[in-house]
Amino acid sequence: MRHWLILLLTLCCLTACQQKPIRICASDKETAMQLKTLLEQGGCRTRFGGRDTGRTIYFGLPPVLQEQYQPLVDSLCEDGYLIVGDGRDLVLHGKGEKGTLYAMYSFLEMMGYRLYTPDAMVVPDVSRMELPVCRKLSNPAFRYREVAYYYPNHSQLYADWHHLHSMADRDSLFGMFVHTFGRLLPPSEYYDAQPEWYSLNNGRRMRDGQLCLSNPEVFEELCQRLSDAMSRRPEAQIWSVSPNDNYNVCECAECRHLDSLYGGHSGTLMWFVGNVARRFPDKTISTLAYQYTRQAPLATASRPPALPDNLQVMLCPIEAGRELPIATSPKEASFRKDMADWHQLTDNIFLWDYVVQFRNFWDPFPNLHVLQPNLQFFRNNGAQMMFEQGTGPHNVSSWMDIRCYLIAKLLWNPDADIEALMEDFFQGYYGEAGKYVKAIVDTMTRAVVDGGERLNIYGYPVDAVETYLQPQLLQQYDSLMAQAYTVADSAVRERLRFFQLALDFAHVELQAAGLMPTTEESLRTLADDMTKDMDRYGVIMMMEMGIKPRKYYDNLCHYADKAFYAGPRHPVSLRQPATAPYATGRLDDGRVGILDYRYDWLGFWGDTLDATMALDETETFSSVSLDFYFYPLSWIFLPQRVAFYVSDDMKTWRQVGEEFPESPEILATPSIHNVTFTADNSLKAKYLRVVAEPLPEIPSWHRAAGSKPWIFTDEIFVK
Ligand SMILES: [Zn+2]
Repeated sequence: MRHWLILLLTLCCLTACQQKPIRICASDKETAMQLKTLLEQGGCRTRFGGRDTGRTIYFGLPPVLQEQYQPLVDSLCEDGYLIVGDGRDLVLHGKGEKGTLYAMYSFLEMMGYRLYTPDAMVVPDVSRMELPVCRKLSNPAFRYREVAYYYPNHSQLYADWHHLHSMADRDSLFGMFVHTFGRLLPPSEYYDAQPEWYSLNNGRRMRDGQLCLSNPEVFEELCQRLSDAMSRRPEAQIWSVSPNDNYNVCECAECRHLDSLYGGHSGTLMWFVGNVARRFPDKTISTLAYQYTRQAPLATASRPPALPDNLQVMLCPIEAGRELPIATSPKEASFRKDMADWHQLTDNIFLWDYVVQFRNFWDPFPNLHVLQPNLQFFRNNGAQMMFEQGTGPHNVSSWMDIRCYLIAKLLWNPDADIEALMEDFFQGYYGEAGKYVKAIVDTMTRAVVDGGERLNIYGYPVDAVETYLQPQLLQQYDSLMAQAYTVADSAVRERLRFFQLALDFAHVELQAAGLMPTTEESLRTLADDMTKDMDRYGVIMMMEMGIKPRKYYDNLCHYADKAFYAGPRHPVSLRQPATAPYATGRLDDGRVGILDYRYDWLGFWGDTLDATMALDETETFSSVSLDFYFYPLSWIFLPQRVAFYVSDDMKTWRQVGEEFPESPEILATPSIHNVTFTADNSLKAKYLRVVAEPLPEIPSWHRAAGSKPWIFTDEIFVK
């Protein structure tokens, strides 16, 4: 009887506790409403204000607790926050516009809530939630935290939950962001009248190179333009005065003299931009330590430039490999030195890092293991602001869910327990299937680390064929994926498919490069399924320079048409050899080029392609076709003329056709152009000759104008 009584009393108590709502006291009702909604979704009753219920959540420090917690409040940085509770009252308090909001999401995470992606929120059962006894003070490691990825730019909830800045935040903070010489003094307005304001290269003033920084008129006009721009956007705090994205630094005598005085190209740039910063002491002037200015000015220079406090150095390790942490990789000693040297000169460092495979957004790019040590290294060496270059604000790419999640957590706290974060993600996001996905990620990571090959942001899947994309490993990944699917519900299957697309991409690329066996049908089917699903997931670009999934598929089909061509092939000889290192392929080996000019393409630098094909005497044909690669960024242009000849004796040649391809003014999007000659009547000859003449020189719109262009071709087809 006594036991029954105790049980009854306990049940009454529990019921009373459950029914008593949590009181929420907040002046900012909008933020507090989000907490109320989310707690109620988890089954916890809440109400705004009213009588004390014995459990209160305060947004902001209430006056009665002011004295007790003021020292903690005083130690908050911008965006930092405080979560303090004694089991009865809980205070969520933050500094700046977002601090309290961040405190709220952090508290929800403490209670078991998760937001893995904007569409993957975990709401736990909080119907019996107890307010915690805690004292958590959290400040960000970096005062600016942007991941240039889809989620934070398409979900304010995601950005706020993970305390990230978005592109919109950047746009309001920065009046101008990066590579601004061309915008500050547009050549379209100034070049014709003042060519001497622009960089001198190979004896020529470049329209789209850099500025001639030693010219005092350049400084004055640039400051005037900058001042005008600032008056149009007075709220913008940071203004970039930085070189354009090319290497054409001015070589005039006066600029060279400045280089010698100030300790190199970066010294001259810091001298120039430092003077701009002194002209605008109320603003921050940002410039680039990138490529030709990545090294800090030599300390031994006769006049090492002093950097004013309002000069921000935007430092960028674009060249670094991602197979090992920058802090310990034997290959990254030069960047370590550069960063330490800059840190000697300034604390005002904005670090721009790359966290994706930039050439191929769908390469798996297993770099998760370097995210933490790299952010720790940047923080320890003076980076205050972080820009993590993903695949852009609107594009969707491989491993985006896990990569973006981990980066977000580490940007706030680079010392976070990364293993725990990953376990939590794999388990929470993929459920039971998570262990298989994790096994794939772990295996790839081991292969990258053990393989010792460079994990290059400008790489291709074929570069990893001996490390993380070895064919036998790909088979292992496929089998793990198959196991993962068997334990997945429909929501998880969608996430698995998204993860799997990176593996499919590796399969397609390796098969097309002849590094894995395939058939025409299976390759086409794989690529078709992959690109259709990429479309479905919202992929708009498959590489930095463009290429939509269906365009990729079209290219692949064009490749398959040639690679699996069943007709006769004839030996081809060259009158002059191709140019090393692009001279190993043949035009008659059945291996045809993919959208990567390093494989199976034959290159001719400034030389004419002059190829002769020996035909069967019995054979008639009516068309001849061949492809040319086009990629002016790497100086690869279409030939200006392609002529087709026939002969029966190799002495007398009769021209049967000619084509005049035109190279469009597209710098950086690679493409494959087909040139086909079709005869009116079928032809019969013993020999066929194809002559492709390059442009006499790189055209005037290109930075390398006047230099010799390349032409690239892969295989000649006669039908
Ligand atoms: Zn100059």
